[in-house]
Amino acid sequence: MKILVGGSVAIDNVKTPVADEKNLLGGSASYAALSAAKLSSPVHLIGIIGNDFPQEHLDMLAGHGVDLSGLERSEQASFTWTGEYHENMNDRSTHSVAINVLEDWQVKVPSELADSPFVVLANMAPVNQLQMLEQCTAAEKFVVADTMDLWITVANDELHQVLKKIDLLVINEGEAREFAGTNNLVLAGEKLLEKGPPYVVIKLGEFGALLFGPKGSFFRCGAWPLRELADPTGAGDTFLGGLVGSLAAESAIAPTFDQLKQAIVKGSILASFTCENFSTKSLETARNDDFLDRLQQFEAISTW
Ligand code: AMP
Repeated sequence: MKILVGGSVAIDNVKTPVADEKNLLGGSASYAALSAAKLSSPVHLIGIIGNDFPQEHLDMLAGHGVDLSGLERSEQASFTWTGEYHENMNDRSTHSVAINVLEDWQVKVPSELADSPFVVLANMAPVNQLQMLEQCTAAEKFVVADTMDLWITVANDELHQVLKKIDLLVINEGEAREFAGTNNLVLAGEKLLEKGPPYVVIKLGEFGALLFGPKGSFFRCGAWPLRELADPTGAGDTFLGGLVGSLAAESAIAPTFDQLKQAIVKGSILASFTCENFSTKSLETARNDDFLDRLQQFEAISTW
């Protein structure tokens, strides 16, 4: 079942206590599409790149089965993000964000992809998320969206509109507290449900994720216990893509709570690969056996 993933496709420059690397593949949609493609096919990427975008990144995505026919190419420079992680890898400073091609971007969904039953609105301006969703015409679909603190501040109204049109919001812990206006994460999850989506996932970084659903349904998933962390950039986007890839592999357009739980566990395992190396390098090389092995061990350490 088709998965449509829209969001940023970026050039990242990332410094962590482990290394300082430049010209990396970044962007919310790049991670989410690659991750979804690990579990399901076909995956179609919607985004925009500039004339400076490294061809090798595109070749890698295509080589992993991500369809790039919906990727727009512009004569401007690519969206470029430069950031640094500090000693504990939880704190991140953004040094620069060159918006470039994203500045006036009008999202276009090719007509042959408009009927996709799974739609991933990865992190991008809420106005772009709304544009993309308006062009998605499947009568039955499952729509998942991510966001970030910037949009809560500068595009709050549009973000609220997005929330009314999606099935699942994925948001990180700090943003959930800010957006819901409470420090209590259980209350934050419930307040976010009241804003529209039937399901909300609050990501807890190295501690996993919380899933909130209708009628008080709730699930807490841990994170794979990583010993070595090189670069956590894109872990949340990988989680998002993996979650949807898992649902699509089961044709779960109207997933049960149990299917969502499984999807979150799989997203969490895929995210652990992303953290092990810079950019998508570790996710690229992770084999299905590696994934299944972690999944099996994860079950053993998460149940009693
Ligand atoms: P995450 O680590 O999940 O927050 O995602 C990191 C990715 O988000 C990086 O690869 C960046 O290129 C991308 N990113 C950073 N800022 C923005 C933004 N304002 N809009 C869209 N994507 C962004």
